[in-house]
Amino acid sequence: MKYQVKIYGIVAIVCFLGLALVQVILLYNTYERQYNRFYYDKKGTLAEVYARTVTNDKIFPGAQPVIDSIIIPQYRQLETLYTSDRKAFDAAAAQLMVRVYKALHHYGNADSLLNQIREEGHISEKLYYAFCIHRLQIKFSDHHYINLYDPINKSSLIPAGIQCEQGLYLTGNLRSLNENNRIITLSVSSATDYSYAIGYSFYAEPYDRQATVLQQIKFTIILTLLSLLAITALFIVTMRNWLRQKLLSEMKSDFINSITHEFNTPLTAIIVANKSLRNEKTLGNKEAVQGLSDIIGRQSDRLRQLIGQVLEVATINRLQISRQRCNLHQLTTQVLDAYRLKVTTADIQFSGDPDAADILVEVDTFHFTTFLQNMLDNALKYNRQEHKQVTIHTMMQKNTLELRIEDNGIGMHQRTIRHIFDKFYRDPASQAGHPKGLGLGLYYVKQFVEAHKWKITVESEQGKGSTFILTIPNSI
Ligand code: ADP
Repeated sequence: MKYQVKIYGIVAIVCFLGLALVQVILLYNTYERQYNRFYYDKKGTLAEVYARTVTNDKIFPGAQPVIDSIIIPQYRQLETLYTSDRKAFDAAAAQLMVRVYKALHHYGNADSLLNQIREEGHISEKLYYAFCIHRLQIKFSDHHYINLYDPINKSSLIPAGIQCEQGLYLTGNLRSLNENNRIITLSVSSATDYSYAIGYSFYAEPYDRQATVLQQIKFTIILTLLSLLAITALFIVTMRNWLRQKLLSEMKSDFINSITHEFNTPLTAIIVANKSLRNEKTLGNKEAVQGLSDIIGRQSDRLRQLIGQVLEVATINRLQISRQRCNLHQLTTQVLDAYRLKVTTADIQFSGDPDAADILVEVDTFHFTTFLQNMLDNALKYNRQEHKQVTIHTMMQKNTLELRIEDNGIGMHQRTIRHIFDKFYRDPASQAGHPKGLGLGLYYVKQFVEAHKWKITVESEQGKGSTFILTIPNSI
């Protein structure tokens, strides 16, 4: 049964984790899709202001002379290499690109250009940006453009670190360049011989793109979290109910077993005694008849007691009490004196706090007697010590009187403590030696305590013993 519970638990947890994983993946995909689809509504303004700013120039204001100064002096040499040695031309072209990159990378006015664009376009939010060259071609005397840089067939001679998928990454702080954050692509060329054509792009997106996307899918996130929470809560509630039902049905079958055993013992004794009584020889022996009749009387009493206990405790939901003001020390002493007469094999001590000696409490004395007897019965029943010991203390704490019943018995597991006041509950671990009982003693105790509006708690350690603490508030 324990294994069954464990397997159910593991299967349920694995299923839940699988479901949670699927939800997280779906959520992540939604986020990714939204993130990639993100449309920045100020793209148009940025494109227009940028294009205006670099009219008659390239990439950044002032970049054209820099590029010119690197490329123009190389026309003749590049032309010669192109016609004589393609490999050398490719190497020279790569070198040229690296020089262009270095010159523009260090040019350093990209930040101020961006601020200028933001100012002119009245864009208040901060932007990530990047500038990229995706095309650089050169033309000699034959009107034919030759690639100095081709982003599709990237040159292995140009360091990979300065290239990205879109081309030569000149400068910026925007890492992922795509169609969504491409603001504008411009191409500049000239109709004359010995000239070059350049294509470049400006990329930008707001700092809070992530936050905006999260905002957009916040309902999906909340719904996912809520449904996961609801499933967890449902799972916990169902599991708890199921365990409770299981425990209840186990307790009921334990109860049936106990009751059968408890009822059978006196019943068998009565049947056997009755059979003996019918014996001719016995009938003639007055003493034997007397003895057997005593047995039948005692066992009938026991049966009546058992039936009464079952009927009374199993049917009550609230104990009817009649309180009277009473000195608890005296009452306890009386009950213990009577109990000691019945049980002579155990050491039952009472140590009353002098401060509590004169304390009066409102108590139903009849039920208090049964309560204390139940506690003493258990303290001795669930005790395998040779020298069984029960100590009862009283203690005064402000207006509260505490009655502690401490035994040196088998003690209880924390798990057990949670159930001992339940109707019919008996801890299987405590049943070695088959102690008599129906699992109703502490249920009765709980009814007694609740009817008085008192409190009872338990401290216990397996193998060491238990202490039941009865708290009586507002004691006079
Ligand atoms: P019963 O004694 O008929 O089994 P109770 O309601 O009196 O029923 O007690 C319920 C269970 O609590 C017991 O079966 C036992 O496992 C545990 N228990 C009660 N008192 C003690 C105690 N003093 N020490 C250890 N276990 C106890």
